[in-house]
Amino acid sequence: MSRLDSFIRRMTAQRDILDQVCAEVAKIEGPVLELGLGNGRTFHHLRERLPGRRIVAFDRALAAHASSIPEAENLVLGEIRETANRFIGIDAALVHADIGTGYEDRDAVTATWLPDLTARLLRVGGIAVSGTPLDHPLLQRLPPPPSVPADRYFIYRRV
Ligand code: SAM
Repeated sequence: MSRLDSFIRRMTAQRDILDQVCAEVAKIEGPVLELGLGNGRTFHHLRERLPGRRIVAFDRALAAHASSIPEAENLVLGEIRETANRFIGIDAALVHADIGTGYEDRDAVTATWLPDLTARLLRVGGIAVSGTPLDHPLLQRLPPPPSVPADRYFIYRRV
């Protein structure tokens, strides 16, 4: 598969999964945490789908489109592994992590800390959506929408 095909499939999976979980997250109290603001496309989508919900976005540096920049109090810059630690206990309704690199060795390092951090950020019953697997005893894998190929994007419920 070409990288373009792969990119299109990833974006489609992201959109379909976020649409599916937002319907559920709308009924769960708590903020949304966007780990990896990037260009801000998924932040913008979440803001549209969950109007009025606090969304805190994290990244190393601000590189988002001007239309997709959170308010200063909801933008956290620095290494997520360190910055998001401050938010443990926030009882998030949704954690969306889009920090996969496509490099196995780098993603393997992320896998050593992201699952536990995500479990600690979520309230019980909250949802995690991630581009990389989050193997953790408190994160129960949920099936993706039928349009999403298995192992393209991952959904979990905090138990
Ligand atoms: N979902 C975003 C969008 O729709 O525009 C794209 C996110 S992009 C794929 C990933 C972003 O995560 C990059 O901007 C990168 O700087 C950030 N990132 C990745 N790992 C990080 C880390 N450990 N700490 C802070 N930021 C990180």
